[in-house]
Amino acid sequence: MYNIDLSGKNALVFGVANQRSIAWHIARTLDQAGARIVLSYVNDRVGRSVERLGSQLSSPPVLVECDVSDDANVESAFDALASEIDGIDVIVHSIAFANREDLGGPFIDTPREGFRLALDISAYSLVSVARYAAPMMKGRGGSIITMTFQASDRVFPGYNVMGTAKAALENEVRQLAWDLGRDDIRINAISAGPVDTLSSRVISGYRDMKRAHADRSPMGRNITHEEVANTALFLCSPMSSGITGEVIHVDTGYHVMGI
Ligand code: NAD
Repeated sequence: MYNIDLSGKNALVFGVANQRSIAWHIARTLDQAGARIVLSYVNDRVGRSVERLGSQLSSPPVLVECDVSDDANVESAFDALASEIDGIDVIVHSIAFANREDLGGPFIDTPREGFRLALDISAYSLVSVARYAAPMMKGRGGSIITMTFQASDRVFPGYNVMGTAKAALENEVRQLAWDLGRDDIRINAISAGPVDTLSSRVISGYRDMKRAHADRSPMGRNITHEEVANTALFLCSPMSSGITGEVIHVDTGYHVMGI
């Protein structure tokens, strides 16, 4: 029997908004495995509910505000953290944003500004976070995890510009794996099937995507938040020490199907 023990490890989790957030489920699982949790939230308003949630962890998390749409913010968040913790072993990047009107209707109508915004927050932010995190992760056997969706390479009507962002994000995972590998930092993406969250519910066609996964995937059901969190635990543990630059599907096998 192997147990994953993350005692003595610091895990910085971006993207908790509420109790349904994938990031929250990952944070809870890493906490249960013994990691010290740092929760990063986008703004004051979200910060209050993150603070309430954080009190459910086994010890109070370090909290840090960070809006990833601005590099200066990302830099000052890591500066603030450097005085609180001695290094970072795990980063969970579980962030996406697009204007609601760009997550429905014809993709061809995506305006330039909506495209820029979605790609900036949902894809570029991983590069920015990895750059400022790397000095604090170097030589510790660190692991970065980001969240993607199969719309990176297949068409899911309604997912629109977020599919383009996920394609960019997955490419970044491969390029960052090369940049960071010699510093003993791994980076991987989890491609999750649909789960109910604040973000997923605003995608037009989300219900159809969820139904299609349940009906057509080899396992004949949807995934759970816990299945994603358990895969994240594996990816940030020594059990996955040889894996980097990878996209792991947690989708009850939906991506292998042709019909
Ligand atoms: P969520 O709404 O709970 O999480 C999205 C997070 O992004 C929120 O915490 C939000 O505050 C944060 N965020 C948005 N703009 C930000 C900014 N400028 N700076 C910092 N943080 C910002 O929804 P979720 O479904 O848990 O999404 C997490 C990740 O999982 C996303 O990348 C999403 O695309 C991905 N994903 C979700 C599903 C699903 O079905 N829910 C499936 C596959 C992948």
